[in-house]
Amino acid sequence: MTDAIAGAHGARLIAGAGGARLIDGKAVAASVRAEVAVRVAGLGFQPGLAVVLVGEDPASAVYVRNKDRAAAAAGIAAHTIRLPAATTEAALLAEVARLNADSAIDGILVQLPLPRHIAADRVIAAIDPAKDVDGFHPLNVGLLASGRPALVPCTPLGVMKLLAVAGVALSGARALVLGRSAIVGRPMAALLLAADATVTVAHSRTRDLPGECRRAEVLIAAIGRAGFVRGDWIAPGATVIDVGINRGADGRLCGDVAFAEAREIAGAITPVPGGVGPMTIACLLENTVTAAVRRRG
Ligand code: NDP
Repeated sequence: MTDAIAGAHGARLIAGAGGARLIDGKAVAASVRAEVAVRVAGLGFQPGLAVVLVGEDPASAVYVRNKDRAAAAAGIAAHTIRLPAATTEAALLAEVARLNADSAIDGILVQLPLPRHIAADRVIAAIDPAKDVDGFHPLNVGLLASGRPALVPCTPLGVMKLLAVAGVALSGARALVLGRSAIVGRPMAALLLAADATVTVAHSRTRDLPGECRRAEVLIAAIGRAGFVRGDWIAPGATVIDVGINRGADGRLCGDVAFAEAREIAGAITPVPGGVGPMTIACLLENTVTAAVRRRG
């Protein structure tokens, strides 16, 4: 049986035969990107996004190319700055300073991971917080943690949009964030708390992880372990958001949740691929426009 429900953004949540509604991140991301394009067209100036790639990591090169294309498609001027792997930290900091001072640049993103000889923390802290479209600068981290978000990390922001489109009521809900990284888990927990959820953060030292998961009405998995969260860890009817991107034993992309099992029990679930992944770039574009509007009034 296929049942289509129109959500906010005009996105569609397709219920499959397995039980849980599938939250279609591709469709939601497309509508966010279309909204961004409309906003850009009405600005009267062209926002600029600078993406800095150091070295030749193939996965990073693909991410950067995708960001560049998506920005251009939304009418944002995308500048990709490719630096050799041997670039010194001082040279990278000088490049960041140049971009900070460039009035045509509204957003700066330094693609991670950086080569080992460069301290990512120092580079991120050097980015003008008003142009920090990844939301990783300590000032933006602090603002989010204190409940006054400015520029918010793209992946958790994308998850919040998926939850909104899926019509998940967060106020008072028991939410479990599995993973506590600076990029996903921690900002995710802060956003859920800001939405009045009752938030638990679980990690590799958590006792009785299955039990913690079973108490959750909203479960966000972000640990990077293929199929780690089993179907019988999920409360019947829970909303499951799978942030993980892994290669399964069969070589195919898969999430942190054992999808086939989970969709029998969950009320709504994101697939991998096609769930959270597409939202990250869409939210990067949105953050760029947000930063541009704030900077240029
Ligand atoms: P990190 O490796 O930085 O963090 C992983 C977190 O998971 C840590 O907090 C770790 O706990 C916890 N963890 C690891 N193993 C276990 C375990 N066996 N039991 C309980 N907790 C565990 O990963 P990221 O947050 O950067 O990424 C997580 C996943 O999300 C990855 O698959 C990544 O590819 C994906 N991702 C997807 C994005 C998207 O756009 N969809 C964007 C970013 C990431 P501890 O802190 O105790 O070590």
